[in-house]
Amino acid sequence: MGSAIAQGATPMMAQVLRLKAEAGDALLLVRMGDFYESFFEDAREVASLLNIALTARGEHGGEPVPMCGIPVPSLEAHLARLVKAGRRVAIAEQMEAPAAAKTRGHKAIVQREIVRVLTPGTLMEERLLDPRARSLLAAVFPSGARAGLAFADVSTGTLMAGEIAADAVADELARLAPAETLMSATLPGFDSLEAEQMLSARFGAGAAADFPRPALAALGGLLAHIERTARGAAVRLQPPQRFDSLPMMAIDAASRASLELTRAMGGGRSGSLLATLDCCATAAGARLLSDAIAAPLADRAQIEARLDRVEAFVADRKLRTDIRTLLKAAPDLERALARLAAGRGRPPDLAQVRDGLAAAAAVHARLPAEGPLAAIAAALAPHKDLAATLAALVDRPPVEAAAGGAIRDGIDPALDDARQLQTDSRAALAALEARLKAETGIPSLKIRHNGVLGYHVEVPSRHGQALPPAFLHRQTLGGAMRFDEPRLRALADSIASAGADALAIEAAHLARLMEAVCAEAAHVTACAAALAQCDMAAALAELAETRQWVRPVLTDGTDFAIAGGRHPVVEAARQAAGEPFVPNDCRLDAEARLWLITGPNMGGKSTFLRQNALLAILAQAGSFVPARQARIGIVDRLFSRVGASDSLAEGRSTFMVEMVETAAILTGATDRSLVLLDEVGRGTATWDGLALAWAITETLAQRGCRTLFATHYHELTAVAAQVPGIALRRVEARPWEGGLVFLHDVREGAAPGSFGLDVARAAGVPEPVIARARAILSRLEAGEVGRGAAEALAGLPLFSALPPPAPPVDPLRDRLRAISPDSLSPREALDLLYELVRLAREGASGR
Ligand code: ADP
Repeated sequence: MGSAIAQGATPMMAQVLRLKAEAGDALLLVRMGDFYESFFEDAREVASLLNIALTARGEHGGEPVPMCGIPVPSLEAHLARLVKAGRRVAIAEQMEAPAAAKTRGHKAIVQREIVRVLTPGTLMEERLLDPRARSLLAAVFPSGARAGLAFADVSTGTLMAGEIAADAVADELARLAPAETLMSATLPGFDSLEAEQMLSARFGAGAAADFPRPALAALGGLLAHIERTARGAAVRLQPPQRFDSLPMMAIDAASRASLELTRAMGGGRSGSLLATLDCCATAAGARLLSDAIAAPLADRAQIEARLDRVEAFVADRKLRTDIRTLLKAAPDLERALARLAAGRGRPPDLAQVRDGLAAAAAVHARLPAEGPLAAIAAALAPHKDLAATLAALVDRPPVEAAAGGAIRDGIDPALDDARQLQTDSRAALAALEARLKAETGIPSLKIRHNGVLGYHVEVPSRHGQALPPAFLHRQTLGGAMRFDEPRLRALADSIASAGADALAIEAAHLARLMEAVCAEAAHVTACAAALAQCDMAAALAELAETRQWVRPVLTDGTDFAIAGGRHPVVEAARQAAGEPFVPNDCRLDAEARLWLITGPNMGGKSTFLRQNALLAILAQAGSFVPARQARIGIVDRLFSRVGASDSLAEGRSTFMVEMVETAAILTGATDRSLVLLDEVGRGTATWDGLALAWAITETLAQRGCRTLFATHYHELTAVAAQVPGIALRRVEARPWEGGLVFLHDVREGAAPGSFGLDVARAAGVPEPVIARARAILSRLEAGEVGRGAAEALAGLPLFSALPPPAPPVDPLRDRLRAISPDSLSPREALDLLYELVRLAREGASGR
C-alpha cells in the first residue's frame, strides 16, 4: 500500500489503508460504530462469501469505494462463515470512545487498531469451533532428511513438538489433520535460538531442554504465528511435550484414509469409525477419543492401563451410568479456560468453569479411590477456594459483562447499595411523575426515556406553553413537546451513576474471578483432562456392553487370533437396516501368516480386511473390540491398501499410485506389521499384474508380516502350494436364480471362480453380452498360463463391435435357462412344470 495512495485520501480512508497494509492477505473488518465494515477488494469478497449487500462509500482516487458491513451483534456468526471458507480475518477495533476523539478537534477520527487476526488454526470462540473436533495449528521445519514438527490446540492450550523423518511428515499431518499448517519456507519465526528464548520466557528456564533443534525451530514458528495473530493477548499454552517419545502404531496417510478412522472417504465425520464409536457424554471426551483412534499406542503397559479403566466401567454398570449422567452436565472446561486466560473470556465462560469444577467434584465423590480409576479420582479432588470464589457468579450470567447482573446480590455491600439506588430511583421516578402531574395540573404528563434525550418530561403540545419556567424545552414533535426539569435531571444523574457504579463494581469482581481461575489454571486443566479420560473410558465401556465387545488380549509377540470378528461400522449400518452381520475368524500364525483371499466382488473381502485392521486399531487405542475373542501381538505399523484405487483416477496413474504405496509397504513392513492388500496389480495388464502380485505375496510371506491379501487372480492361489506360510481362504457365494447370493462367510480354500460374469449379470449387463463373455472366458481359461491372450483368442469367431439389439423379454426362456435339472427332486420338477405352464400362458395372453 504505497503512501502515494494514502496521501490523497480522507483521514478515514487513510486509516483503513494503513490497517489493510498491516492485515496483509487477511480480510480486514473495521469497527465503525454499530458495524464492522469492510472496504475495497475485501468488501467484494466478504459480500459474496456472506451473501450480504455490497454498497459504496465516499470515493478514493476518483472511484466510489466498495464497502459492506456486518452488524456488531452478528459478528461471530459471520466470522464462522468466513473462517470456514478458509479465509483469515483481521479485526480492527475502536481504541477510544468517539467523545475522546472529539477532544482532539471536530475532524479527528477515532483511533483504530487491529486487535486480532483469526486464522483457522487459532480459534477459541465457541461458535467458531466444532465442539467434538480438535482444532490444531501445525508448523513444519524441514531440516535435511529430518523435520521438526510442532502443533498446538490453541482452544485448549495443548502444545507438542518433536523430530521425525522428513518423509514421515505427510503421514503425521494426515494423523493430526490440522486446521492450519505453517511451513517454514514461507514464514518468519522459525528460529531455534529465538524459540529457546521464547520458551524459557513463557515456561521457565529449561523448557526447551528436551527438544532437538528442528523441533525447536518448528515450535518457534508456531509460537510466533500465535503471537502475531493474538496481537498481544496472552494465549495460554501448557509447557510443550514431546509427541515423538510415545511409541505409536504407525499408519501412513493412504492407509489412514482407506480405513476411514476419523473421517469417511467423502471427507465428513459421518460413516467413519469415530462416528460409530462416539457416544461420549462431553465434547472434551469426544476430542480425546478422536485423538486415541487417530493415534493407537504401541506400548503395552499404556494400552493395558486404558483397558483397565474401560473394564472397571464395564464391570460396574451402576457406576458407569451415574458417572455418565454427571458428565453430561459438565461444560467444556478446557476451552472456557483458554478463552479466559487469553483475556477473551466472558461471564458465561466463568460459569462454565464453575459448573465444570462442580461436575468434577461430583465425579470425584462417586469414583472409587482405589483401582484403575484412582488416578482420575485423585486429579478431580475439588479445589474448595476456587469453587467458593466462583460462587459469586449468578447461575446464568449474561453474555456481555456490560449488560450487568453477572454477580450475585449479597456478595458485596457496595454493589448491593448501587443496585438499591437504581431500584429506588426507579420508584422515585414514578413518585416524581405523580408530583409533576399534580403541580402542573396536566394529567397526561409523562416521564419518558430515550437514547437521545435520556429522561425527559413529555406533555401534549397544547399544554406546552402553560408549563412553569423550570421546564426547559428540548424538542417539539407532532402532538407532543419534551422538556428537561431540574429534579428529573438530578434523579436521572443519580440513576446513571448508580448504574455505572454497579457496573464498575461488577467489572472489578469479574476481573477478580478471572484472575482466580487463571491462577488455578493448572488445576483446572488437570480436572479437564481427567474428566475427558473418565468420559472416554465410560463411553467405551458403554459400547463394549451394548454391542458385546470383548477385552482384547495384547501380547508382545506376533499373535493375531480373532474369533467372531465384526466390522463395527458395517455391522452398525446393517443392524440399522435390520440385517445381520456375519462374524468371521482370522487366525494368522506361524503356519499361515499370510491369508490369500479370493471370492466374487461384493463378497465381503474388503470388509473382512478392514475389520481386522480396525480390531487392531481399537485394541491399541485401548478399547474393547467387536469380536468373541481377540489376541493381538502389538502391531508396530499398519498398512492398508484396500479399496483406495476405486476412488482414484483411472489408468496408469492409478497403477503408479498403487505401486508407490506397495513399494512403501515392501520397504517399511516388519515382522511386527499388519498388512492388508486388496487387488494389487489390477491397474496393469493381466500377466504383469499377476506377476507382481505373486512376487509381492512371496516377499511378504517370507518376511513373516501378518498379511491379508485379497485377489481376483485365481492363478495366484498356486503360490500357496509353493511358498510356506500362506493359507487360502475364500468368501462364500453361491449362484442362485441367475444372480449370486453372498454369504459373507470366510472359509478355507480358494473360490471356484471369480463369478465376475454372475455379478455382471446381476447388475443388468444384457444376456447376449454375458453369453459372449462366457465363450471368450472358456477360451482364455483353456489357454495355458504364459500364452498371450491374443493367441488364446485366435480363431474365436468375430464378434460385432456392438451387441445385437436385446431380444424381447422372454421370462419363459430365462426361467428355462436357469434350471439345473440334475439338482431337482421329482417333487420340485413337478412344481417347476406348473410354473413353466403358467409363464407360457401369461406370455400368450400378453401378446
Ligand atoms: P468385496 O470387497 O468382496 O467386493 P465388500 O467387502 O465391499 O466386498 O462387501 C460388499 C457388501 O457386503 C458390503 O457393503 C456389506 O454391506 C456386505 N458385507 C460384507 N461383509 C459382510 C458380513 N460379514 N456380514 C454381512 N454383510 C457383509
